[in-house]
Amino acid sequence: MRILTTVNELRAWSRAQRSSACGEGIALVPTMGALHVGHGSLIRAAAAARPGRVAVSIFVNPTQFGPKEDFARYPRTFKADCALAEREGASVIFAPSVEEMYPAGASTFVEVDGLSERLDGQSRPGHFRGVATVVAKLMIAAEADLAFFGQKDAAQVAVLRRMVGDLRLGTAIVVCPIVREDDGLALSSRNAYLNPGERKQALVLNRAIRRVEALVADGERSGSSLIDAARGVFAEEPEVRVDYIELVDWETLWPVLAAAPGTLFAVAAWVGSTRLIDNAIIG
Ligand code: AMP
Repeated sequence: MRILTTVNELRAWSRAQRSSACGEGIALVPTMGALHVGHGSLIRAAAAARPGRVAVSIFVNPTQFGPKEDFARYPRTFKADCALAEREGASVIFAPSVEEMYPAGASTFVEVDGLSERLDGQSRPGHFRGVATVVAKLMIAAEADLAFFGQKDAAQVAVLRRMVGDLRLGTAIVVCPIVREDDGLALSSRNAYLNPGERKQALVLNRAIRRVEALVADGERSGSSLIDAARGVFAEEPEVRVDYIELVDWETLWPVLAAAPGTLFAVAAWVGSTRLIDNAIIG
């Protein structure tokens, strides 16, 4: 499997693939590495849609980390990532340097007003500006017609859908389901930070989500009742600090009063010094 490190190499690979595949497009799977089975599911879906034409990017994007966040210690497992990506059907890895993605003096950023300040954007100012900027650069460089993302980062999906629509980028976003451990914890590269005690406490996020899903299945629709119920579940783990519990429209990320099909129920919480997220789309 080839490893590409420059935008020009990625663009040339994409163009060559498309000309030899009679114009068939290529699939992009943006990641920050430290790949796990959740990332694997995205790569597999991409390979099923665009066999032999899947670019997986591995780039720990500095602009989406706040100054006090974990950019420096974010897990970097490049060799294992390449093996996993290849197993799941990646055709190339795109692993650029920071200087390649942000040439000296780079001052162009993508802001998705209105959505970027919601959910994770509220507690992580600038996070979605960094995400939107790097994903726009990746989509443009790869000239991808499909890009695969996880529902795990549901607010990110909303921001990127809006960005792609506003900029008419021509890359369709495919959203893949959340992959979980057997006990329900959503897979995340940051789970590696949890000690055994925190690993147990972290299950409260999924318990809250499941409680809300059960209430909705029983006919409950009131946003405040659902949020209260989730708050009650979090109260069982007093050491876990809730960041947000929200019921929102998945397109606008604005709060809604009642759950309806397609509404996003999302939680974020600090388990020790690790911030975790989870969500469910109301069926
Ligand atoms: P990251 O490397 O954390 O930036 O994630 C790269 C992509 O993998 C994003 O689209 C995530 O939503 C997706 N992803 C992360 N964790 C999971 C998971 N547990 N299930 C499905 N997709 C995931």
